[in-house]
Parts: sequence; C-alpha cells; structure tokens
Amino acid sequence: MKVDYIVVGLGLAGLAFVEELIAAKKTFIVFEDDSQTSSLVAGGVYNPVILKRFTPVWNAQEQLKVALPFYKKIEEKLNITVDEKFVIKKAFKSIEDQNTWFEACDKPKLIAYLDPTLDSQKYHGVIADFSFGNVHETGRIDTKKLVESYRSYLEDSQLIRFENFEYQLVCLDNQLITYKDVSASRIVFCEGFGIKKNPYFKYLPLNEAKGELLTIHAPELNIDFLLKSTLFVLPLGNNLYKVGATFNWTDKTSDPSQEGKEELVEKLKKVLNVPYTIVSQSAGIRPTVAGRRPLVGVHPTHEQLIVLNGLGTRGVMIAPTVAKNLYNHLEKEEELDKEIDIRRFSK
Ligand SMILES: Cc1cc2nc3c(=O)[nH]c(=O)nc-3n(C[C@H](O)[C@H](O)[C@H](O)COP(=O)(O)OP(=O)(O)OC[C@H]3O[C@@H](n4cnc5c(N)ncnc54)[C@H](O)[C@@H]3O)c2cc1C
Repeated sequence: MKVDYIVVGLGLAGLAFVEELIAAKKTFIVFEDDSQTSSLVAGGVYNPVILKRFTPVWNAQEQLKVALPFYKKIEEKLNITVDEKFVIKKAFKSIEDQNTWFEACDKPKLIAYLDPTLDSQKYHGVIADFSFGNVHETGRIDTKKLVESYRSYLEDSQLIRFENFEYQLVCLDNQLITYKDVSASRIVFCEGFGIKKNPYFKYLPLNEAKGELLTIHAPELNIDFLLKSTLFVLPLGNNLYKVGATFNWTDKTSDPSQEGKEELVEKLKKVLNVPYTIVSQSAGIRPTVAGRRPLVGVHPTHEQLIVLNGLGTRGVMIAPTVAKNLYNHLEKEEELDKEIDIRRFSK
C-alpha cells in the first residue's frame, strides 16, 4: 500500500491534520492504539479569555475564526452536532476580583468577550457571594462524540487501523518511508503524551498535566451556562454536569484516581450547595509545554518525520489553526509560525 502520509494518533491533533489531507485529496492511513485519552475526556470548552488572570488567550481571535467553521464543516459532513454555544459565568471571589474584571473589560483584546455589567442574580444551588461576570463567544465541542464519530467515518473507508504504531519498524530510506506493508512520503506524529515513547521526538520538552473530571447528577441544579468558580461546572442536559478539572504534574497514567475524586469532591463543596451523585469519573493527560506554545514541525535530521503536538489545555481552539499552518508549510512552502516551530528547541 502506498500513501502520501501516515498519521499516528487520532485525537484532536490527528483529526485536524487529516481534515487538511482530505481537503487536499492526499492519500493517508491513520494508526490509533487507544493509549491516550485526552481528546476523549476533555471538557471541550473554547474560551478566548484566561479566567484566572483575565488576560486574552494567545491568538484567540484568529484561532476561533478558523476553529468554529472547522467544527461546523465536520458537523455537516458527519451529520452530527458537537458545537454547543453558551455563556460562561465567572463567579467572583471578592471585590478585588470584580475590580480586576472591570479593568480587563477595557482591554482592546477583551472588549468583545467580557461583559462589564455584573450579574447579581442568585442561581439555586450555586455558591457565589460576589456576583458573576459573563464571558461571551464561548462554548463547548463535544470532543468525545467528535473523535469517536470521526474514527468511525475513517474506519468505514478503511483509512484507520486500530493498532499500536511500532516505531522500531519504521524504515527510512531517502525519500520513502516503509512501515510494515505501507510505504509513505511522510509520517505525522500526533500522539499527545504518547510522544514520550517516540524515539524521534521524545527529546522535545512535553510535560504531562494529568486532569480528572467527574460527571454528576444534580436534579436541583438548573443552570444552562458554564459556571467557572473554584472548578468549572458544565451542563450536559438531563441534570447531568461535568465537573473539573484537576492538575497533577507527576502521575503519568490516564486512570481515574481516588485522590483526584477526593480533590474534586472537596472543591465542589465551595461551588455547589445542592445534593448530587457521582455518575462517572474520567482522566487524561494534557500534552503541555512550558511557555504554552505547541510543538509543530519537521525533524531536524529526518525531514520526512513531522510532529504535531503540545496542544496543552486548549486543543479545541488551537488544533485547526496549527494543523492548517503545518499542512501549508509542508505542501505550499508557507512559513511555520516561529512560536510553534520545534526548531526553537535543540535536539
Ligand atoms: C481533564 C481534561 C480536560 C480538558 N479540557 C479541555 C477543554 O475544556 N478545552 C480544550 O480545548 N482542551 C481541553 N483539554 C486538553 C485537550 O484534551 C488536549 O489539548 C487535546 O486533546 C490534545 O489532543 P492530541 O490529539 O494532541 O492528543 P491525544 O488526545 O492524547 O491524542 C493522541 C492520540 O494518539 C494515540 N497514540 C499515541 N501513541 C500512539 C502509538 N504509538 N500508536 C498509535 N496511536 C498512538 C493515542 O491513543 C491518542 O488517541 C483537556 C484535557 C484534559 C485531560
């Protein structure tokens, strides 16, 4: 079998790159071994504002301009709905918090998103003594539905193999790569935290930030916005809410833990005062980079080997833009954004 590209990993990064390949009518085969879960468990929220500091997310406006039509196109192609728009309500913790909000509302990059009128309404079950600030132009991509539907779509056309990609079987010979029965011009590695096992790219400084979430059933809570307080509380419908998330910088497994659950339950006491039951718990590893810029580009010595990784905590917004830039760089000689180019790190 001869293809233009082998793609390793079908999370948000792999999916965004495959969309570029399909649009350009390139041939490809994907390998996916279910070893990482980040794109399957993600909250999926897109939000142009960092609510801890009330600062704009890197290139947020530009990324949203690419991302929202990107997900819309996939919705139409697969006949699914994955994009749900809502308002985020930031629960303030103090008067100082409110004042910082007012200052942020005047920043040119935030004017379109932050509402200067505070919401002092009481929402049954929500603990908030200092009102809320509304963030607009936000929403959520149901990443589990998106990735699973996309994998089925590829499976129907035999464009994905559900098996581990074995790095030691890669044969690099001048311009052509052979891997088992496949020969290809390039391999694009999109393995998330799985990159740590990749002999070609494990030198890159990718850090693990394990995150855990709970799904709770809270029949007395009735909110249709994303609540951002000590935790986020995201309505899923039918009185179900996703609650999260933890950050653990040492645990390298994707397994839900008792410690993660206890942390979320403890924090939830400061956020909600209605009864709830825990329906499920999930976990995954965010592929993060110090400096918060993705890891994208061509291997320093093997130019057929490419990486698309480091989407961190914001894969939903970032993936479509960086995948497009990477594809245009490889096929149309477009310059790769210097901020994401792996050449900023030496091997
Ligand atoms: C708890 C949590 C909450 C989050 N919330 C949000 C959010 O609200 N908004 C947001 O934008 N982002 C969020 N994120 C971050 C987001 O999930 C990531 O940025 C994104 O999913 C990373 O996508 P990826 O494709 O790079 O990696 P992954 O999703 O990890 O995908 C990599 C894929 O490669 C496969 N793979 C790895 N090695 C191999 C191999 N050798 N052979 C075959 N296949 C392989 C893996 O099985 C996996 O499917 C969250 C993450 C977590 C964990």
